[in-house]
Amino acid sequence: MISEKMIMLGKKRSVIREIFEYAKKRSNEIGRENIYDFSLGNPNVPAPSCINESIVKCIKNEDPVLLHGYTSAQGDLNVRNIISENINQKFGTVLTADNIYITVGAAASLTISINAIALPDDEFIVFTPFFPEYKIWVEAAGAKTVPVASDQDTFQVDIQKFEKAISVKTKAVIVNSPNNPSGVVLTEDTIQKLCSVMNKKSLEFGHPIYLISDEPYRELVYGNIKVPYLINYYDNTFICYSFSKALSVPGERIGYVVVSNKMENSLDAYAAICGAGRALGYVCAPSLFQQIIAKCINETTDISIYRKNRDLLYEGLTKLGFHCIRPDGAFYLFMKSMEPDANKFCEKAKKYELLLVPGDDFGSPGFVRIAYCVKTEQIINSLPAFEKLAKEYQ
Ligand code: PLP
Repeated sequence: MISEKMIMLGKKRSVIREIFEYAKKRSNEIGRENIYDFSLGNPNVPAPSCINESIVKCIKNEDPVLLHGYTSAQGDLNVRNIISENINQKFGTVLTADNIYITVGAAASLTISINAIALPDDEFIVFTPFFPEYKIWVEAAGAKTVPVASDQDTFQVDIQKFEKAISVKTKAVIVNSPNNPSGVVLTEDTIQKLCSVMNKKSLEFGHPIYLISDEPYRELVYGNIKVPYLINYYDNTFICYSFSKALSVPGERIGYVVVSNKMENSLDAYAAICGAGRALGYVCAPSLFQQIIAKCINETTDISIYRKNRDLLYEGLTKLGFHCIRPDGAFYLFMKSMEPDANKFCEKAKKYELLLVPGDDFGSPGFVRIAYCVKTEQIINSLPAFEKLAKEYQ
């Protein structure tokens, strides 16, 4: 007998994928240039030249058997050394290769971290709006998610609500900053307050509450915005990093987990990360791309394009009377729907070929997500369509 749960997961496409499929159909009907597809978080800025140049160099110069062969399950030692030294330089940490587990992107970093610590009935706190896959990953590990509403004006953590939600069953708290779908960056003040509650509650309950930081958008911040490095704020931290967006290589599937060296029983925690990687079949991330990221570790994709898109979209929509959360990072803008049901609002938007994602699956009904990792022309050309949409509500 096949697992009903897995059949259901396989058959039910995410809302984002549904809209993406609709966009493909519609662009076949009326042409790609006539639709405004804001559905998917697929980077549209090319990878820095270092990526392709390093691929060519590696293929020409490295021993092909080694280049395409297995590395250690947790990743090549030299690459892990380069990663840990890079983090130490940037954030003043004292990590070594033995704190790093190389993965196939943030999705694997998260599922490995969740499975390394989850026991049946454990609770994982997430803050709305949150990346919908968290729920699937946490439930697949036999635990459950407890969503906590963020402050509705700032989308920072509502510390009072958080303190009420945390319980003896809380195993971990997942944060994602810069955030998908809101683009909000958690401030240092928020982080300090969050960590102070977690330290207090860990003491009260007599067991560690882990902090899992999901960081695929760390490098995508606009202006002088600081994204605190959480290992410097909280000892029991796992960092789930990915190069997908930072280097515009989402299809190459490469990232890593950092187990803080200050974590309680950190050697066992790292062993559990290796164990979860093994149990899930996530051993030896692609060897070629391990070498490539080591060579491009100080590079970032050209984020000036996202910044320009952010400015045009935020200013354009605000002028038209839409209520938007100003995003400081990532490439998403979270906007209030002009009617309580964001699904109906998104259906109306389709009349003007605007493809937006309702916030319901992110745990924030009444909002829509606009992914602005698109050509700048699309933003400019879409504003008259947004204007028509706004007029429907006047
Ligand atoms: N976490 C968040 C918040 C994301 O937005 C994504 C991808 O869009 C992921 C995790 C998964 O990232 P990756 O492609 O590196 O697996």
